[in-house]
Amino acid sequence: MAFELPALPFAKNALEPHISAETLEYHHGKHHATYILKLNGLIEGTELEGKSLEDIIQSATGPLFNNAAQVWNHTFYWNCLAPNAGGTATGKIGTAIIKQFGSFEAFQEIFNDKAINNFASSWTWLVKKEDGTLDIINTSNAGTPLTDNSVTVLLTVDLWEHAYYIDYRNVRPNYLKGFWALVNWDFVNNNFA
Ligand code: MN
Repeated sequence: MAFELPALPFAKNALEPHISAETLEYHHGKHHATYILKLNGLIEGTELEGKSLEDIIQSATGPLFNNAAQVWNHTFYWNCLAPNAGGTATGKIGTAIIKQFGSFEAFQEIFNDKAINNFASSWTWLVKKEDGTLDIINTSNAGTPLTDNSVTVLLTVDLWEHAYYIDYRNVRPNYLKGFWALVNWDFVNNNFA
C-alpha cells in the first residue's frame, strides 16, 4: 500500500491572511506531495516496505529517512494550524506553559527566539519530556523529535523558506506572527493529554 497525501484539515484559503491559498497550493500540493512520491519510490522493494510511517522514520537513514520524516512533519504541522484559532494557549497546556515559563508571552518569546535563530531549513518544536515538563527544541532539515522516545511532540512550526516565502518573503519573524494567529490549541492539548 503506497502512502497517500493526506487532505489538509481546512480549506486552502481558510488560513488567510496569515497563510495564503497560494502558499498551501505549493507547500501542500507540491512540497508535501513530492515527499510522498519520493518516499513511495524509495521504499519499494526494501525491507521497510509495508511498515508504518512511524516505524520507517525510526529505522531509516539517508534519503528514505529525509522523505519519510518530512511526510510526517508536514502532516503534523497542518494539524497544528486552524482557522479561527491562535492567541493565548488554552486548557491544560495553557496552564503548563504559565507554570513553567511564568507567562504565555515569556514562552512565546523563547519559542520565537529559538525559531528565528534556527539556521536555514529547519523546524522548531514544543515537546513534553518524560518528567512532564515542557521543552522547546530545534531540528534541522528533516530532523524530527519523533526519533527521541523520551519526548512527546506537541506543536511545531515549519521554518523552511517554502513555508513563508510567498507570503512573507525572507522575513521569518512576520511569518511567526502569522503562525501564532493560527495555532490549534485543541490539537496541542490532545497531544499533551
Ligand atoms: Mn515545509
